[in-house]
Amino acid sequence: MRTLNKKASGGDMNRERYAELKGILEERRREIMDQVQEKIRDVRTEGANSSTHGVLDAAETSESDIQDEIEFALIQMKAETLHKIEEALRRLEENTFGYCFECGAEISERRLRALPFAVRCKDCEEAREIAHQRERLIAQRRGAASLFIDMQG
Ligand SMILES: [Zn+2]
Repeated sequence: MRTLNKKASGGDMNRERYAELKGILEERRREIMDQVQEKIRDVRTEGANSSTHGVLDAAETSESDIQDEIEFALIQMKAETLHKIEEALRRLEENTFGYCFECGAEISERRLRALPFAVRCKDCEEAREIAHQRERLIAQRRGAASLFIDMQG
């Protein structure tokens, strides 16, 4: 009979939560990989088509250029997301994923499902937003004041 090696350190994330979070991230990764592969396939088939259909006129060419650029930007965005997921999976292995950056509390699974890259719990995020708004207001005032000083100096 095998025994699970339970670590009694207490700080470790429980297995259920670990599996849940890993599932969220891997699902997301698979989705994006599928989308990227599909896009790449589309671009390839389009490329093959246009070469067999001969020369496009200038308008068509620039239109397809724009299309290509959009496709490329999309793929790039997805590649960045993939990178973030890899990072999150690594942090999950290190036991630092899913905890609030500010207060250290566990970020709820519901929140992570909606925002897999959330680094703060809901409370801290809200507090931060309020603080940000306040900072922005102060900065605006300070900006106006320093502009006035600059003019005098
Ligand atoms: Zn927090």
